[in-house]
Order: sequence, then C-alpha cells, then structure tokens
Amino acid sequence: MGYKLVCLDCQKAFNLESDFVERAKQSEKCPECGQVAIRYLHRFRPPKKSDDKAWEVVRFLYENGFAYHRHITNADRSGYEKYPETMREAREFVERMKFQNPL
Ligand SMILES: [Zn+2]
Repeated sequence: MGYKLVCLDCQKAFNLESDFVERAKQSEKCPECGQVAIRYLHRFRPPKKSDDKAWEVVRFLYENGFAYHRHITNADRSGYEKYPETMREAREFVERMKFQNPL
C-alpha cells in the first residue's frame, strides 16, 4: 500500500515512493511550498486543485482528527465508511464518529 503526501495549502497530492528506503528519504514537506504536508493512504483521491469546496472538506476532516489514514471501518459490509464529500456530510460524519473514535 502506497502513500500520498497531501498539501492542504497547495491543494495538491504527491505520490510517495512505495519502496521503503526511498520513502524514508523523502521529507514530509510539500515539494512545492515547503510546508509540512500530510501523509495519506493511497486510497485517498485528492480533489481537483481548483475544487475549493472539496478541499475545504478535506481540511475540516483533518482538523477534526479524521485524516484518511484513520479511515474507519464500519458495520455495513462495504468495509469502509464512505468518506464525506460535502461540508454537510463532513459535519455529520464528525458528529457520528465522535462516539466511535473519541479523540
Ligand atoms: Zn504545498
């Protein structure tokens, strides 16, 4: 399973080398702006750079402790909770998850 480095400022995701040694050499900084970026599982599908609303959701979830690497399994056999796509869904998601995954 690979990782992506996600910069919330640039609204961009960068693929990380899946090879462990190569990965260790890469810093956790955004290659473009040099700010600290966040490591997400490969499953994360970054919104388009211009999709500010979608990135707002990503930021909101991150600030509430729900980065993608903490993605939570749920009861319905799909295995993974559908990740919120709008701010409304995101707020509901955070409310719901508070009980399952206290911060
Ligand atoms: Zn950046």
